[in-house]
Amino acid sequence: MSQRIALVTGGTGGIGTAIVKRLSKMGHKVATNYRDEARGRAWQEKMKAEGYEVTLAAGDVSCPDQGAAMVRDVEKQLGPVDILINNAGITRDATFHRMTPQQWDEVICTNLNSCFNVTRAVIEGMRERKWGRIVQISSINGQKGQYGQANYAAAKAGMHGFTISLAQENARMGITVNTVSPGYIGTEMVMAVPEEIREKIIAQIPTGRLGTPDEIAYAVSFFVPEEAGWITGANLSANGGQYMGW
Ligand code: NDP
Repeated sequence: MSQRIALVTGGTGGIGTAIVKRLSKMGHKVATNYRDEARGRAWQEKMKAEGYEVTLAAGDVSCPDQGAAMVRDVEKQLGPVDILINNAGITRDATFHRMTPQQWDEVICTNLNSCFNVTRAVIEGMRERKWGRIVQISSINGQKGQYGQANYAAAKAGMHGFTISLAQENARMGITVNTVSPGYIGTEMVMAVPEEIREKIIAQIPTGRLGTPDEIAYAVSFFVPEEAGWITGANLSANGGQYMGW
């Protein structure tokens, strides 16, 4: 496959880093965003020490202007974005009767509005060039719901509607749009959950363990090659068998 330009949002995080590495190993030029420059540069140096050249651009993807500016910066440094992985995400858990408007808004803006903000900035270029790969990182909890995560489950379920609509609109333009729905992965996001709750979660996973970021990166990479050009509007669950429905 020819070398492409890939943008992974939230590439400095647990799953994002694994996606950045896998796309780099596939031969693509990869960029990601940072919000805190010092942390972003430190991560970039660490990647460099491991043999990965990753381009950085500043941007909070929950903000439309910053999302668009971040894409423009990446395009200035590397060229037009061919592969977009909408991966940046946060949790602000609370049972709904206690959830604040801020907890709701932060999660919807970061996990769902970000898909609009960043994808809107790349889609016209992909349509002009008649090639593109867009993958949303959703969640098992967007498929089955989760106690204490009405905000997160709503945002992640929304990504599926976004994916299948965008897939229809762009199918004739050489652009595929798909979703990966991870189960529980041993990143900081999940390790921050109290241990007794984590043990209960693991007990519900048929494989008997948390997933790894590399296993999610592998699922993402499935949608990227030329040979995946007929796969669009799909959702790939990667969850150790914890949820086997849609
Ligand atoms: P991490 O917390 O490790 O990483 C999240 C990344 O997103 C960080 O790079 C973070 O950057 C970035 N980010 C957060 N908010 C913003 C923002 N407003 N603008 C730009 N970047 C932002 O999370 P994971 O790697 O675990 O999760 C990655 C994705 O996978 C998320 O969408 C998550 O919902 C999803 N997921 C994770 C699961 C898991 O078990 N871990 C399970 C299912 C889905 P910064 O350093 O600036 O905060």
